[in-house]
Amino acid sequence: MTRKKLAAVRGMNDLLPAEAPVWEWLEARVADWVRSYGYQLIRTPLLEHTELFVRGIGEVTDIVEKEMYSFEDRLNGENLTLRPEFTAGTVRAAVEHNLTYEGPRRVWSMGPVFRHERPQRGRYRQFHQVNVEALGFAGPDIDAEHIVMLARLWKILGVGPVRLEINCLGQADERARHRAELITYFESHRDALDEDAQRRLHTNPLRILDTKNPALAEVVAQAPKITGYLGDGSRAHFEGLQRLLEASGISFTVNPRLVRGLDYYNLTVFEWITDALGAQGTICGGGRYDPLVERMGGRASPSCGYAFGMERVVELLKESATVDMTTSTDVYVAHQGGATAAQAFRVAEQLRDAGLDAVYHAGEGSLKSQMKKADASGAEYAVIVGEAELGNGAVALKALRGPAGAAGGGEQRIVPLERLADELVDALTRSEQQS
Ligand code: AMP
Repeated sequence: MTRKKLAAVRGMNDLLPAEAPVWEWLEARVADWVRSYGYQLIRTPLLEHTELFVRGIGEVTDIVEKEMYSFEDRLNGENLTLRPEFTAGTVRAAVEHNLTYEGPRRVWSMGPVFRHERPQRGRYRQFHQVNVEALGFAGPDIDAEHIVMLARLWKILGVGPVRLEINCLGQADERARHRAELITYFESHRDALDEDAQRRLHTNPLRILDTKNPALAEVVAQAPKITGYLGDGSRAHFEGLQRLLEASGISFTVNPRLVRGLDYYNLTVFEWITDALGAQGTICGGGRYDPLVERMGGRASPSCGYAFGMERVVELLKESATVDMTTSTDVYVAHQGGATAAQAFRVAEQLRDAGLDAVYHAGEGSLKSQMKKADASGAEYAVIVGEAELGNGAVALKALRGPAGAAGGGEQRIVPLERLADELVDALTRSEQQS
């Protein structure tokens, strides 16, 4: 009986080996880059209590209303949710472990997040984010640091052009006055609103400003802007940020309609957008969330952070051809079966002892087919453990690439086993210096 094949959950992708080099490359660059700004790794669980996200992100947000993977643990009745973003969990961990007790902290994370959205290019139900948070900093210098470090990352990665939009959402009382005016305004234009906007009118009118519906463009363009309601403190913060960005040579646009989808933001919000990815062009979003730590039961602690979507950055990287997508290893160890296979197995381990990357030919196969596999593995050299040479305590060493290994017909020489690792290390060091 043949069984039906099982498929992955819709909107959740496998990372297959062919695409792995670009992810590994990105992850390595990211780790170096966050370290260069003094951010420390924090890893929180994928599952948290549902209440954390409801309290943190806000009840009337898209994420909490309709995108969370929430379920009741049938073993103990707990209500749990797969994290739809990193900030709530990071703040929960910081409060739980008193991380900011001795002063502000810079932390970062990387990993999967889950949102039940309609899948399309650049929008998935499991996707990956790099998330950066600065806990306990009042800014605006740290807000500027976040934006400047991202500008540096786009340069390191060679992705671009990416444009920056910023806005200031003010403080709660300023937003409340703006919100009241917005409701009055949208009520007087009720007929022009779509169903979604009508629903949000009294729950989250700010989100109407964020609408993707072109029919609402006109009515949204005329709506009262938050900028008109900012007090002196908010204005000074926003101006301070802009001065620092200008001094760092960062171009930006102030977009008074930029509000972001999460409830916890105040003062600075920003997004980085590319035109190279079609509809899902926002690659990074973030901002300040001063009230959140207190909302999570901690001592009030001004904080800000951001996240960028790794799938979208990977998509840009694939287009920019910055990353070498070929697989590679130092040496492929072939053999003639029997005693030579056992010896080859040991030789491969000895080469790894010497710090080399070695792929052992598992199983059987003609030397010709093994050489094909050696070539496909991207190896620089093949070691062939053959019966005749092994009798003299030696193996054959064949160059597969570079001038010495041109067109696969590379030179082959016999090397005593005890000198093999040293010779390979020397040869690889030489070819590295030449390239
Ligand atoms: P957000 O937490 O919604 O501000 O998202 C931050 C970043 O994550 C976005 O700018 C995107 O790059 C990425 N992102 C958000 N939602 C998705 C998704 N469903 N699929 C892929 N990437 C996403």
